[in-house]
Amino acid sequence: MKRSAADIREDLQAHVDFLVEAGAGFVIRRSGDEAGSGAPAAAGAALPPLAARPPQTSEERAALEETDRQVRACTLCVLHKFRTNAVPGEGNPAAELMFIGEGPGRDEDAQGRPFVGRAGQLLRKIIAAMTFREDEVYIANMVKCRPPDNRVPHQEEIEACWPYLIRQIELIRPRVIVTLGRTPTDSFAPGREGMTVRRGKFGDYRGIPVMPTFHPSYLVRNEGNRELKRMVWEDMQKVMALLGRK
Ligand code: SF4
Repeated sequence: MKRSAADIREDLQAHVDFLVEAGAGFVIRRSGDEAGSGAPAAAGAALPPLAARPPQTSEERAALEETDRQVRACTLCVLHKFRTNAVPGEGNPAAELMFIGEGPGRDEDAQGRPFVGRAGQLLRKIIAAMTFREDEVYIANMVKCRPPDNRVPHQEEIEACWPYLIRQIELIRPRVIVTLGRTPTDSFAPGREGMTVRRGKFGDYRGIPVMPTFHPSYLVRNEGNRELKRMVWEDMQKVMALLGRK
């Protein structure tokens, strides 16, 4: 589909905004040398070959929509009592790149869409800076209903919701997963260390490279901290390199 000049301008602006906030001087210096080298050969080798990622069938698309319907009607865990809207996820049903966050917040619960609050706006800037359009990626969460007071979801809630997320991954078959923050990273790239140590190194989920990075809400809470933005951008450059975007 041909994109309008206004759309392209808007994407470029978001790209520049994020790069400037991330410290463009650093970003530009890195892009020619070591940035991207963090994508280990093993992670590249583990990429599912194209034969293992056949074009999505109409049945699979229908199954993804059915999963959305099941989520919206789900009462499997206590979180259904607190929701205004369940938030199944959104984006390209055959996305190469999938972002997984923790759970819906107040704005997401109100709108039934993932990552629409302040943290969501930052994530969408990051996606544009990575040269992806929002309709090229898929965004989901570990739990599909808002935990009260935005608390971290309990283990039993994560386990109750897990089959929906796994179904989404199996149907979308992304080439790379980015986990945002500790909660999804604990499930997809487990480790004892904090996020500062675990971020930036590819893990593996059933042959899909998994890149852990900080949750955008952590960046929003530490707005003046350029180092955090720089680290996230460094992580995303590795993802871009793996997907041939740089
Ligand atoms: S969080 Fe997941 S498992 Fe719990 S009620 Fe919502 S959709 Fe169902």
